[in-house]
Amino acid sequence: MQPTAARCRICSLGEGHPGVVLDDDQVCNLCNLNVAGELLDNYRYTNQVFTEFQQAPPNPAGDHDCLFMYSGGKDSTYMLDKFVNEYGKRTLAYTFDVPFESSHAARNIQLAREKLPATFVFDSDDDNIKKMMRDVFNRPRPGKPGAYLDEKLPCVSCRTFFVIRAILYAFRERIPYIVLCADPQQILTMESNVREVVRGFYRTFGPELASELFDGAIEDVLFAEDDELPKIVFPFIALRHEYDPERMVRELKEKGLYESSPMETHCTLFPLLNYYSFKNWGCMFYKLNASSYVRAVHRNENYDRSTFSIRFPRSLDLPDVEDRLGRVVMEIAAGTGDREEHRAALVDLFMRMDATEDAAGFVAESFLDMRKVAADLGIKVG
Ligand SMILES: [Zn+2]
Repeated sequence: MQPTAARCRICSLGEGHPGVVLDDDQVCNLCNLNVAGELLDNYRYTNQVFTEFQQAPPNPAGDHDCLFMYSGGKDSTYMLDKFVNEYGKRTLAYTFDVPFESSHAARNIQLAREKLPATFVFDSDDDNIKKMMRDVFNRPRPGKPGAYLDEKLPCVSCRTFFVIRAILYAFRERIPYIVLCADPQQILTMESNVREVVRGFYRTFGPELASELFDGAIEDVLFAEDDELPKIVFPFIALRHEYDPERMVRELKEKGLYESSPMETHCTLFPLLNYYSFKNWGCMFYKLNASSYVRAVHRNENYDRSTFSIRFPRSLDLPDVEDRLGRVVMEIAAGTGDREEHRAALVDLFMRMDATEDAAGFVAESFLDMRKVAADLGIKVG
């Protein structure tokens, strides 16, 4: 891990954090809102595509008006119901089985299949997504300063991988829109233009591996005409002012479409994702989310709107939590230190981040197993 660098005095993002620059007053560019212009452009474009999609006539080329990326979580279940029953779209619900995710959402997908008139499709490609993950983790340390969200490269790559699978599916079946329930923070990295999604993947992995991972099919998208390509719709960005997780869950339960799970989208790579961001960028995996919460509280002390799926306690001493987590993660990765001390430290840290004792114990256990998960995937740690 790198020596502790200077941190933004408002949100505690570090000087070396990808895409972050501190000014002379030790305030970062995100707190100074220098990214606002770019964000507004993105919002304007996504709003425009969403409106166009809502007004579009039925797809003349096939049986489906949209391919809806369906995870079975509350956000996508809520939207799927809306698309089918309120907007009247002929919807193909596409679920990609990510091998790193626990299957807590399986029950919700089953409920949706029973109750919603959509076509349900399941897709998977364990070998190639694991091959991609090995490539990401086993790379040499990236050059500084890096770009926004580089510390989340494994996570971003995984999502991009299955978005490209969906793009290829929609392209082949001539489905004109792909619906993605991404949250407002993800829009900064998620290209709305499918050709740009594929180009970005090429840039990250090189033409050879990129082509191999999709059996040569992505070249078809790169060289297609614009009007042959599907467009990506982000309903939660367009409807962001209405986002209210508690109301959504209540409505879904009333319709019998949802059963809560405390670990809705639990990713088994979470400990390794932290290892990746500490090793390469000296920060914890959720640093941007935590900092954005701290920033929002700083601007408005009555702020209590939860960001998508993660809550942080108001009194969190972020720099301290991050330093301690980083030390434990790097020791576990290196196979040094005492297991019971690590466990105690992790449980304490996760409980300070508002986890219950049970949940904290569960997550701590997954961190202690980090080296085994890495070895199974062929990822080198330590
Ligand atoms: Zn800041």
